[in-house]
Amino acid sequence: MTKIERNIAPAIDPIKLDRLAEVAVKIGLQLQPGQDLFLTAPVSALPLVRRIVEHAYKAGAGLVTPILSDEQVTLARFRYARDESFDRAPVWLYEGVAKAFAGNTARLAIVGDNPMLLSGEDAAKVSRANKANSVAYQPALEKIAGFDINWNIVAYPGASWAAQVFPGEDEDVAVAKLANAIFAASRVDNDDPIGAWAAHNAALRQRTEWLNGQRFQALHFSGPGTDLTVGLADDHEWQGGASTAKNGVTCNPNIPTEEVFTTPHARKVEGHVTSTKPLSYQGTLIEDIQVRFEEGRIVSAKASRGEEVLNKVLDTDDGARRLGEVALVPHSSPISESGILFYNTLFDENASCHIALGQCYSKCFLGGDKLSPEEIAAKGGNKSFIHIDWMIGSGEIDIDGIHADGRRVPVFRTGEWA
Ligand code: ZN
Ligand code: ZN
Repeated sequence: MTKIERNIAPAIDPIKLDRLAEVAVKIGLQLQPGQDLFLTAPVSALPLVRRIVEHAYKAGAGLVTPILSDEQVTLARFRYARDESFDRAPVWLYEGVAKAFAGNTARLAIVGDNPMLLSGEDAAKVSRANKANSVAYQPALEKIAGFDINWNIVAYPGASWAAQVFPGEDEDVAVAKLANAIFAASRVDNDDPIGAWAAHNAALRQRTEWLNGQRFQALHFSGPGTDLTVGLADDHEWQGGASTAKNGVTCNPNIPTEEVFTTPHARKVEGHVTSTKPLSYQGTLIEDIQVRFEEGRIVSAKASRGEEVLNKVLDTDDGARRLGEVALVPHSSPISESGILFYNTLFDENASCHIALGQCYSKCFLGGDKLSPEEIAAKGGNKSFIHIDWMIGSGEIDIDGIHADGRRVPVFRTGEWA
């Protein structure tokens, strides 16, 4: 073991970790020769950061700029910072990030911190800090949500996250279990991960092509506690797996990914829906969410736990009460089969059909890269500072596609593709 590798937990297989780095660069980003890369990660993920940077430069990267975060540094702010600071964000930094994206810098985010890190901190401060950050980050986020550039998220099995997912286990055992789950879901637990991703992308493309051919006007979800009609936006387009950013690069933004997804109509959602998995939102667990929609807007929201936080989120802006995404994931997806609650959307959203409150993806429209924000809004696309996915799928959910003439086509039966 070289000096550089000394801080990898023995529980993490270095070969699979290296494959994950290679997949992030070659499949996740499809990083182009000469292209710069902006990377964020928790310090705990440094072993993966180092491998990704190595693969990036070997792939011809221009300049790779990492920014690392640390759990203790984050906590210090919430415990000791002046009150007024919670309405502020480093605007200068986010402006620079937006400028980098405008200059075709690719974006990679490694997640791996304890998702419940802020659960014991002052909820009002957490919410104010999140809002200030969302506002400051908006110009950069628009370039990500608008898919201007190739971007990717991957995960690293940090010890504090592993302890949350596998409470009661020894640290090494928990890290090993989370590492194996991440490697399996990210399709790097085989000798040809690049080939495995090509096959997976082809399978997802078959689903999106069928859905795009159907041109449903709405989807109807029914199951325990759920009777929901989700109107689809005019000229919506289903996406899944690899897709092409406006800069012409075909990449896989989420690793792992199992979903096919599109844009709902922000003003045409009716009925009620019950969440099927807890939502981990900025350190708060929100459980048994029940909401009712009228003309696309949430008019009542309840939760058995975290209801106050849920209602705060819904009050972020008008778009926070409307949907920006609807996604289909079979109940038999590998992440769902693992039975693990990861407390992280990147994984949990790939275990189940889900909907997202807030901002829509402009790429989920026919010719979406040429539409102005006004045109997207006119077609039913939602706008918000937030985008929060929560799970509504299970082995008991049925979904029908509804055509303009009212004809219904089975899409899912008991949680699986019909
Ligand atoms: Zn999704
Ligand atoms: Zn989403």
